[in-house]
Amino acid sequence: RVKHAGRNGYRFFEATMDSSVHGHLELQNALRQALAEREFLLHYQPKFDALSGQIVGVEALIRWLRPGSGMVSPAQFIPAAERSGLILAIGDWALDEACRQMRAWYDQGHRFKMAVNLSAQQFRHARLIETVRATLARHELPPAQLVLEITETTAMEEAETAMGILRTLAEMGVGLSIDDFGTGYSSLAYLKRLPAGELKIDRAFVGELTPGSEDAAIVQAIIALGHTLGRTIVAEGVETVEQRDFLAVSGCDTLQGFLLGRPTTATALSELLAGSSPYKA
Ligand code: C2E
Ligand code: MG
Ligand code: MG
Ligand code: MG
Repeated sequence: RVKHAGRNGYRFFEATMDSSVHGHLELQNALRQALAEREFLLHYQPKFDALSGQIVGVEALIRWLRPGSGMVSPAQFIPAAERSGLILAIGDWALDEACRQMRAWYDQGHRFKMAVNLSAQQFRHARLIETVRATLARHELPPAQLVLEITETTAMEEAETAMGILRTLAEMGVGLSIDDFGTGYSSLAYLKRLPAGELKIDRAFVGELTPGSEDAAIVQAIIALGHTLGRTIVAEGVETVEQRDFLAVSGCDTLQGFLLGRPTTATALSELLAGSSPYKA
C-alpha cells in the first residue's frame, strides 16, 4: 500500500479501518467486544450430491452482525482476527456453535455432515486436537458428523507437521476437506499421503467452466486424479446450470454454490430440510 502524507492521508487510513495502526487496534477491540456481546453468527450453505440432488453436508460460514454496519463478511475480519490471535477464541465459538446446531439436526434425524473452516493459526495451534475432542464430547456428536476444512496452502506449510495433525484428526474419525484446492502447490506425492477424504475445487476454476476451456481440462484432471486416490470431489462456487451440468457429467461428486443454495440461517435451512426426507434412526 502507498503511504500518503498529510492530514487527508491519515483520514484515508482511518477510514479503511484495517490499514493504519490506529484502525487495526480499533478493529481488534471491536472484534474482542463482538465476542463478548455475541455479535457473531453462523450461516450454513448446503452441499449437494451431484447425481441425486440430496443434501450431503452443510458448511458453516461465520458472519458478524456489527451494530451500525450490518452484516460483515469474514473476508473483512478474519485476516485481522488471525493477526491478533483472536481467531482462536472466535474459531472456538464457531466450532462449538456449528456442533450445537449439528446435534439439533442430528436429533431430528439428519445425517449430513457439518463442515467448519479452520484458519492456519487454528490448525497449527497445540490445543486444536483437544478442542475438537472436547467440543464433540460436549455435544455428544459422533466425530463422523464433523468435517474440518483447511486450505491447500495451510495443509502445505510445514507439510510433515500438518500431516501429523491431519492423521490424528482422521484417527479420531473426523472428516477432512482440502479447501480452495488447485490454488496451492501440493505435490502429487504429498497429495497421495494426505489423509483428507475430500478435495474442494477452488471457485476460480469453476467460474469460467465452459466445455473445451482450460479450466474444464483442469477440473476434469482434478476429478480423475482425486478419484484415483479415492477422494470425494466437491466443486464450490457453482452459479450456473451449465456449470452444474458440466460438473455432474464430469463425475464431480458434490456441488455447492449460489445456484443450488446460498449460505443462510439455521432457521431457513431447517425449513429447506423439512421439505426433504432425511434418514430416520
Ligand atoms: P471458503 O471456505 O472457501 O468459503 C466459500 C466462500 O464462497 C463463502 O464466502 C461463500 O459464501 C462463498 N460462495 C459460496 N457459493 C458461492 C458462489 O456460487 N459464488 C460466489 N461468488 N461465492 C460463493 P464467505 O462466507 O464470505 O467466506 C469467505 C471465507 O472466510 C471462507 O472461504 C473461509 O475461508 C473463511 N471463513 C468463513 N467462516 C469461517 C470460520 O468460521 N472460521 C474461519 N477460520 N474461516 C472462516
Ligand atoms: Mg470452506
Ligand atoms: Mg473454498
Ligand atoms: Mg476460499
